[in-house]
Amino acid sequence: MKQYNHFINGEYRPSLHGGTMDIINPATGKKYATLASGDEADVKLAYTAANNAAESWACTPLPERQRILQKIASLIEEKSDQLAEAEMLDTGKPISLARRLDIPRAASNFSFFAAAASQLASESHYMPGQALNYTLRQPIGVVGCISPWNLPLYLFTWKIAPALAAGNTVVAKPSELTPVTAAMLGDICNEAGLPAGVLNIIHGTGPAVGEAIVRHEGIKAISFTGSTTVGKRIAGICAEQLKKSSLELGGKNPVIIFADCDYEEMLETTIRSSFSNQGQICLCGSRILVQKSIYEKFVADFTRRVKEMKIGDPSSPDTEVGALISEGHLQKVLSYIDLAQMEGGRIECGGKQLHMPVPNEGGYFVEPTIITGLVQNCRTNQEEIFGPVVTIMPFETEMEAIALANQTSYGLASVVWTNHLARAHRVAGALQTGIVWINCWLLRDLRTPFGGVKQSGIGREGGWEAIKFFTEAKNVTVRYEH
Ligand code: NAD
Repeated sequence: MKQYNHFINGEYRPSLHGGTMDIINPATGKKYATLASGDEADVKLAYTAANNAAESWACTPLPERQRILQKIASLIEEKSDQLAEAEMLDTGKPISLARRLDIPRAASNFSFFAAAASQLASESHYMPGQALNYTLRQPIGVVGCISPWNLPLYLFTWKIAPALAAGNTVVAKPSELTPVTAAMLGDICNEAGLPAGVLNIIHGTGPAVGEAIVRHEGIKAISFTGSTTVGKRIAGICAEQLKKSSLELGGKNPVIIFADCDYEEMLETTIRSSFSNQGQICLCGSRILVQKSIYEKFVADFTRRVKEMKIGDPSSPDTEVGALISEGHLQKVLSYIDLAQMEGGRIECGGKQLHMPVPNEGGYFVEPTIITGLVQNCRTNQEEIFGPVVTIMPFETEMEAIALANQTSYGLASVVWTNHLARAHRVAGALQTGIVWINCWLLRDLRTPFGGVKQSGIGREGGWEAIKFFTEAKNVTVRYEH
């Protein structure tokens, strides 16, 4: 059985203390590989490699850095079949989604930041007759990147690409549940000519490896994507050390549907925004708010369409809904479906674990689930479920819709469906989320700021924001006379 190892100083190596863990295929529930499971000692080794490589990488001329990052992007594209297959096995997501979304985006993260690095100008401030100020944006040094399991290579590279483009070296940790594509990235980096030590990847649990990265005094910034609970813990450790951190956390995203929307397009997109990746995308809409005049029609049409979704073996090209990430997550999602019913919710469709035929009989499948009849302040509508479960609530007026949408401690993304131009802008301005999609979902321009407000995080990724996070600004004042 294959073992995936750490990638340190350009080489694959097992844990110093010999630790390993199982890698499970969520669609079968069976172990299919093992993973080196590291600890602080492995993180220290990775840090040393990253630190040794830092000065040389920071001084590498931009065109050379860009050439290597672009080559990594091209190699990801070349190997997209193997990477998509690996992503499917690790996550249980449909192969069509891994091919369409995860792997192409991992490649474009590298090509985008390879190009962006040379396009961003820094500021200058002129003091007439006195001086000129200019801002240097310099790499931080060694930075830490920690990512979750839902979009493994997509989110891993979303951090690593800007960190490297800005001239930093990196110690990174993918989720222990989905480490394989990150492990494959090591070979790709070597093939692309990335110098040894510039990117180091340590596998293992959050407490043993993630926290060792966050606590390491030499690692100067932490870019984290994951749960709000872990994000708060990381923020606390970073605060003690006055360490820079960027935190992309959980969500409870509203989808607001006005009666004047383009109904068919809204219906199609709302199926995707609810159940893509089994609802395990931080940007999925989990609270659907529908204007009263079309509420009954929407519930009926949406339920009928969701019942037609093809659930099953992720390797089948027409599967639309695959497996949840783990047994633990399956139990969590089922417990929220029970809770919703105790809170007075009515299951319009789904609601049950699915027992699939061989070879998926041990997989973690849950039917796409639609719940109505709940109030906004119940736990089902307040807590992040992160699975194939949505609630639908009616509203009458625009003000009521905005109030319901904002009645949550989270603030990542929101979706608004309307053909009323002024209303679209009004509602977008009033929503307490870092991202608003009007008449679309998951339409991404990598130049735009990405991130959430309230309990959904601190800081922004994407474009200039990411380069800013991964650099330190230094103002230089040149006096004209002396
Ligand atoms: P998680 O917080 O459990 O784990 C995320 C990563 O942090 C993993 O690599 C994990 O090993 C590591 N980790 C765990 N404990 C740690 C610790 N004490 N110190 C350092 N690292 C630690 O999250 P998850 O279950 O992997 O992912 C699901 C969550 O991620 C959901 O809440 C989802 O909303 C969120 N998410 C947010 C975004 C976003 O952009 N805002 C994107 C994707 C997922």
